[in-house]
Amino acid sequence: MTTILESKTAETTIANSYINEVFETVKKRNANESEFHQAVKEIFDSLAPVFAKHPQYMEHSILERIVEPERIIIFRVPWVDDNGKVQVNRGFRVQFNSAIGPYKGGLRFHPSVNLSIIKFLGFEQILKNSLTGQPIGGGKGGSDFDPKGKSDGEIMRFTQSFMMELSRHIGPDIDVPAGDIGVGAREIGYMFGQYRRIRGAYEAGVLTGKGLGYGGSLTRTEATGYGVVYFVQEMLKDKGLDFKGSTVVVSGSGNVSIYAIDKATQLGAKVVACSDSNGYIYDPNGINLETVKRLKEVERKRISEYVNEHHEALYIEGCSGIWSIPCDIALPCATQNEIDSTSAKTLVSNGVKAVVEGANMPSTLDAIDVFLKNNILFGPAKAANAGGVAVSALEMAQNSARLSWKFEEVDEKLQQIMKNIYQNSVKAAEEYGYPGNLVVGANIAGFLKVANAMVTQGVI
Ligand code: NDP
Repeated sequence: MTTILESKTAETTIANSYINEVFETVKKRNANESEFHQAVKEIFDSLAPVFAKHPQYMEHSILERIVEPERIIIFRVPWVDDNGKVQVNRGFRVQFNSAIGPYKGGLRFHPSVNLSIIKFLGFEQILKNSLTGQPIGGGKGGSDFDPKGKSDGEIMRFTQSFMMELSRHIGPDIDVPAGDIGVGAREIGYMFGQYRRIRGAYEAGVLTGKGLGYGGSLTRTEATGYGVVYFVQEMLKDKGLDFKGSTVVVSGSGNVSIYAIDKATQLGAKVVACSDSNGYIYDPNGINLETVKRLKEVERKRISEYVNEHHEALYIEGCSGIWSIPCDIALPCATQNEIDSTSAKTLVSNGVKAVVEGANMPSTLDAIDVFLKNNILFGPAKAANAGGVAVSALEMAQNSARLSWKFEEVDEKLQQIMKNIYQNSVKAAEEYGYPGNLVVGANIAGFLKVANAMVTQGVI
């Protein structure tokens, strides 16, 4: 790993050794949590110039405090399947940091979910939420429940049981969950219903990503994918480039991918590939989004079925091969660590110009290194995919004002937020001596606001 910033001055040497020391403690105290270590390292490696310039953050032990969640809740989720058998899953909510607002972050239902994954997502969420400029703290949750192949009745019984316990720990001013992998409109609907029943009150702002008929915000469904593309647009504009006429590869075919494909296509790009967890499709004519939406959102089928309707398209088993398709812009929008250094090198040798993360932590640390060393425009997740949580915060604002804004109004705000995130990241990177490095810029810009709030609020 070489993205760690070199010691340019005596102050950065002191800062680097402080950071290393804290990182060693993180590893020891959170043994066997490799995803969490990876997320912490990615952020820590950017922060030496901050501690060199503001040693008071070391005196206030900001790093030691920020890596320790304020609260971790782990609970049993029993439910009855369609055969009458009792199943048991594990539920998680990590309330990481509330220095700048109530905890905010999605719920993930996927068999791979464990404490390390929820902690990595929650930790990233602190700085992401700070970058949006809105008053929201960082949290994340989920379960190792696998929604794939479950009936609607099973999904409902599971989500109701999950909410039975989670409801004790959340609230519009306490902690506001949303969706993530495996949690979409259906699951949010069931969870909101159960929360309302338990509380006996209509607290619309307790969850975001709600349906439009009961407190949801227009543009929330599209927000993460659209936001990623707006972010790429800003990056391209700065280099005199454009989406128009470019070839794009998007991994995944879920919420983020679908709306990234949608907006990139609207802006004149040709998106030639997308995937699911079994394999990927390549369509030289450009992906037909209506087919993908129907297959994945309505029929809940595999992406392989796409080729039955589009005969020039190919389906290839396995996920990483998608990165061998030559493209100008790559948007990993599926899951963590989906691009390793080998895939990164392939993308670079095929002439990729920009790689921007729609998923959380889709690039390994070594892959990021490859992109940065080869001067590829690289947009890190916590900046590029912040549009989803930003519009969630707008949903909270509409809920407390008991108002609904128009689609165009929310979309305009989203575009402005993505522009601000980009510009603030660029500015921070420059100010701290790493011009053009958005990894460093986003980490620093996000960190400063939270660190200042923590210092001001005393030792808590
Ligand atoms: P969805 O559940 O809607 O979709 C996930 C997609 O990724 C599915 O198509 C899934 O395939 C696919 N997938 C999962 N694992 C792999 C894999 N190993 N290789 C290829 N494809 C895979 O989730 P979202 O779109 O909501 O989330 C995607 C990513 O974006 C996650 O990292 C999430 O944390 C992040 N994110 C989401 C936000 C949101 O607003 N939804 C906000 C910010 C970040 P299959 O159908 O087989 O399961």
